Amino acid sequence: MEIKIANQLNGLKAGFVYAHPDDETFMSAAVIRQIADTGGNPVLLVATRGDAGFKNGDYTNASREELGVIREQEMAEAAQVLGLTVVEHLGYPDGKLGEADDRELVLQIEVFLQKHEVEAVFTFPLDGGNGHPDHIAISHAATAAVRGGKCPSVRALYYGYFNKGGELQEPELIVETAPYWPFKAAALRAHDSQKHSINRHFGSLDQPREDRRYEMFVAAWKA
Ligand SMILES: [Zn+2]
Repeated sequence: MEIKIANQLNGLKAGFVYAHPDDETFMSAAVIRQIADTGGNPVLLVATRGDAGFKNGDYTNASREELGVIREQEMAEAAQVLGLTVVEHLGYPDGKLGEADDRELVLQIEVFLQKHEVEAVFTFPLDGGNGHPDHIAISHAATAAVRGGKCPSVRALYYGYFNKGGELQEPELIVETAPYWPFKAAALRAHDSQKHSINRHFGSLDQPREDRRYEMFVAAWKA
């Protein structure tokens, strides 16, 4: 695969629109850090507090309410590591984003993108990538917000690339995680309540595993 230097990221006002605390780190820790390091402004909108997330170890007995609070705190710590300047939580029930009022969710995303004068939006692909219903819902809502014409600052929409085979588009943004690995690993560690799923996905955090070497996005739309 040809590696392109993702110069488009430098200095960008970028809006990351995801479903759960930790999606931003799984999908785009290196992208966020590159933007932060080159004078850009990365901001994050999270639709749920992740209160139905996988529970393990110290968190087995946490109620949904308690887990939501814990995950917000973890998100704040990860945000600091990654250089996110803003984290807004919409607080929809985790796992049920597909049942949310579509228009309300799209409106909230529009308000967020307008407020921060976002130039590029990053989210999941329309199929959610891994098929999670919340990931599907947030992708559709973010796409509707970008394409609805109410956010004139937005010039580009990027979908995470999952390399499952059969994709219609090649990734346009490819960022190597190695230079940013200390940040990605620290942000993953900040999401401590999710350490089992993090472990399954990334293995040891000492270095990027071969299949996690790149963060990749396809250009879904450009102005
Ligand atoms: Zn998620």
